[in-house]
Amino acid sequence: MPHELDVPNLHLPRIVIVGGGFGGIELAKKLRNLPVQVVMIDQNNYHTFQPLLYQVATAGLEPDSIAFPLRKIFKQQKNFYFRMAKAEQVLPNDNLLLTNIGKLHYDYLVLATGSTSNYFGMNDIATNSLPMKSLPEALNLRSMILQCFENALLTHNLTERESHTTFVIVGGGPTGVEMAGAMGELKKHVLPNDYPELDFRRMRIHLIESGDRLLGNMSDESSQKTLEFLERLDVHVWLDTFVTAYDGNVLQTKGGKTINAKTMIWSAGVKGQIIEGLAPEAIGKGSRILVDTTNKVIGHANIYAIGDVAAMIADDTPRGHPMVAPVAIQQGQLLGENIAHILQKKETNPFKYRDKGSMATVGRNRAVVEVGKMKTQGFIAWFLWMTVHLMTLVGFRNKVVTLINWIWNYFNYDRGIRLIVRPYKNPNIPNSPHSRQETN
Ligand SMILES: Cc1cc2nc3c(=O)[nH]c(=O)nc-3n(C[C@H](O)[C@H](O)[C@H](O)COP(=O)(O)OP(=O)(O)OC[C@H]3O[C@@H](n4cnc5c(N)ncnc54)[C@H](O)[C@@H]3O)c2cc1C
Repeated sequence: MPHELDVPNLHLPRIVIVGGGFGGIELAKKLRNLPVQVVMIDQNNYHTFQPLLYQVATAGLEPDSIAFPLRKIFKQQKNFYFRMAKAEQVLPNDNLLLTNIGKLHYDYLVLATGSTSNYFGMNDIATNSLPMKSLPEALNLRSMILQCFENALLTHNLTERESHTTFVIVGGGPTGVEMAGAMGELKKHVLPNDYPELDFRRMRIHLIESGDRLLGNMSDESSQKTLEFLERLDVHVWLDTFVTAYDGNVLQTKGGKTINAKTMIWSAGVKGQIIEGLAPEAIGKGSRILVDTTNKVIGHANIYAIGDVAAMIADDTPRGHPMVAPVAIQQGQLLGENIAHILQKKETNPFKYRDKGSMATVGRNRAVVEVGKMKTQGFIAWFLWMTVHLMTLVGFRNKVVTLINWIWNYFNYDRGIRLIVRPYKNPNIPNSPHSRQETN
């Protein structure tokens, strides 16, 4: 049995939260004034603002503008403790969480571990495509994209050159659309200045979606407008197209189409990031943890799950709530209130999602926004998108730095952070750790 994690014993009910994402943070804040000990476990020591990862990947923002140290968020909270660790397993009968640095006792355990890429069992795609779920992945993508242009300059074989400058994004949800729009902007305004020797008419950006329209969670009108916006940015959109294989060079679709591309970005599926040890009946479709209306995990008395990893199945949510930040935030807040009720032996309240609308941006000056019955597209939508994202970014410094970057990029048609940064590789140690994509 692993040793006990060194966390002070306050002799108060201990609430262990796994995950410092949108849900975990809101929950921990709500527990601030309760007579409980809050212990947060996260594999990173920072919170990531995932909605802007694509801007890191396309050199629009520095990584530290969209990340915030977890200890700093809670530095005033006396009942809060943080340990950087990866949670590996729950032992529900012993109220123990096993992590890579030791075991931890809990009175209540909350899993707020978010989601991870789902490749639907296609191992070649998992191995050869690039995901964009975390900061290191977004940074890797940035280096990979820029490296492709450096490599394109090294060959006079036009087919080879084109495959270096062909980028395929799979998945026409908000992430895929925003990434494709940002790539379109890079092609139009930024990269030709850096690589005047390359013919940018030959650079291709493909966005592939298996459904019959983009942004499936929004109206037909917004989908259609998004398609128009992307086409104006020279993005080739393939609808009703299902990717079946990718070996790092050639992508194949169900209909027999092939595309030569050195870069494929996968944003076509996510699944819950679960940890071992929960009752088998608690795991639902897409590896999401099944919870009741108060986010309590099915089959467990004192384990809860919130945010992307949780699926609250009901008549109006037969596949669970959408995996978006507002759901995680609202579930975290309600669970905080419900824990207070439980401690005071009061009744708990069921979760009711307040849908604040959807939005996606497609390059500069263009976005689609839907709030209730209100729909807007174009500049006003883009302005709204920017305001909402700035307001929800964690930390005043991050808001200011992001705003300055956006203003700079807007007026200069520039993306200042075009750096290829790779993990340090010690030349004296053969096979020292380096990223898979470096060898492409
Ligand atoms: C590229 C991208 C763009 C997006 N854009 C939008 C958008 O525009 N609008 C929107 O509403 N939503 C968007 N989303 C979705 C949104 O980010 C998620 O719905 C939200 O982050 C879910 O919050 P969460 O708290 O459930 O999990 P997360 O915010 O993902 O946090 C999970 C935390 O758990 C930690 N963790 C996971 N497993 C372990 C473990 N075993 N041990 C320790 N720590 C662990 C992780 O390090 C992470 O800090 C986007 C997501 C992505 C990837």
